[in-house]
Amino acid sequence: MDTQLADWIKDTRHGKEAEAILRKCVHCGFCTATCPTYQILGDELDSPRGRIYLIKQVLEGQTVTRKTQVHLDRCLTCRNCETTCPSGVQYGKLIDIGRKVVEERVERPAGEKMMRQGLKGLMSNKPLFNAGMAAGKMVRGLLPEALQKKVPAKRPMPRTPAGSHSRQVIMLNGCVQPGMMPSIDVATSVLLDAAGIQTRVLAESGCCGAVKYHLNDHDGGLAQMKANIDAWWPMVEAGHAEALVMNASGCGVTVKEYDHLLAHEPAYAEKAKRISAITMDIAEFLAQELHNNTALRDKLAPQVKQAIDRGLIPGKIAFHPPCTLQHGMKVKGVVENVLTGLGFNLTPVADSHLCCGSAGTYSVLQPEISNELKKRKLDNLMAGQPQAIASCNIGCLTHLESGASVDVRHWVEWVAQAIQ
Ligand code: SF4
Ligand code: SF4
Repeated sequence: MDTQLADWIKDTRHGKEAEAILRKCVHCGFCTATCPTYQILGDELDSPRGRIYLIKQVLEGQTVTRKTQVHLDRCLTCRNCETTCPSGVQYGKLIDIGRKVVEERVERPAGEKMMRQGLKGLMSNKPLFNAGMAAGKMVRGLLPEALQKKVPAKRPMPRTPAGSHSRQVIMLNGCVQPGMMPSIDVATSVLLDAAGIQTRVLAESGCCGAVKYHLNDHDGGLAQMKANIDAWWPMVEAGHAEALVMNASGCGVTVKEYDHLLAHEPAYAEKAKRISAITMDIAEFLAQELHNNTALRDKLAPQVKQAIDRGLIPGKIAFHPPCTLQHGMKVKGVVENVLTGLGFNLTPVADSHLCCGSAGTYSVLQPEISNELKKRKLDNLMAGQPQAIASCNIGCLTHLESGASVDVRHWVEWVAQAIQ
């Protein structure tokens, strides 16, 4: 695609990056077929190709309107279009740039501004979020339905492993997951403990930065990323951390891209590169351990089988691969292989490449599209009549749980339950 970027952007970091991405797009439209918002709304401007064209117009200096902002807001940033695109267009990076430029030029309605500020403040403030979530869980049954859906039901809590190991990995301190579903972090450390690995959560680290960054507060998001690197670096530099193990793919994809996001910061670029290189989803890490350590496989698989046979955990499950895992981190089939290798029976799920509608803060900001996608996703997940649904991202888990008729869990929770 030919581009004539405006003088005010063409020589900037974002201008050069956007131009390189735009030039790769040949406007073929293959991506529209797999775009969830295009499937629902049927408007070219709510497709990747349409949005790419809108961003091109903005960066070429044409007048930006609220209409452009609305079409960009409706994008889930699921990056399904990246997986489909035969030309390697890095749509995710382009939409981040486009949204930021539009945000600086179009005034949002006051209500929207307040909502976005509130989400950024609440989700990035762990003590405040945790206090609100704890209070919400106590009175969950009394909450209005819309609010109740945002508060996950209580679930079995594994015991924190007491063992200590010389092999160590770092786990994200996180912003919302420990308050919403604390069992996921504990279950992850149970699995790693079984593999002879110590999990370290460093108190000085926190939110990965995705919430602020994707709500167009790039500076706020980058500050959180740098704070995390400062917290992790001494362990990483000393070679004491084998990996940064992620159990929420929404955070995983962000940390995996710290190298790109901080490439322009001389004090952080090299550190970010190293951090991103050792970042792995827990399924990738466990798959590697199971491959290298047959004793671990011989220990875990019978424990899982016994727990399934005794009815302690479900054996027949439907797996939802989050977009951040399959389209963002490009991790495909790994969780599925780990689960079937451990003895779970996975039911077939149609359209597993499509987003469930959670997409970070999207379910709050675009509830209608989000709910329609949830309904479609749950219909597909339930078609094989599973006993339960598994996934691996806090947003997807909470979103699906709010409409599901069966249990929805991070898969590590069941494996930890089987081990203990
Ligand atoms: S598939 Fe790729 S090249 Fe084709 S229109 Fe979409 S983004 Fe552009
Ligand atoms: S990121 Fe997802 S919603 Fe956005 S344009 Fe691409 S496929 Fe469509």
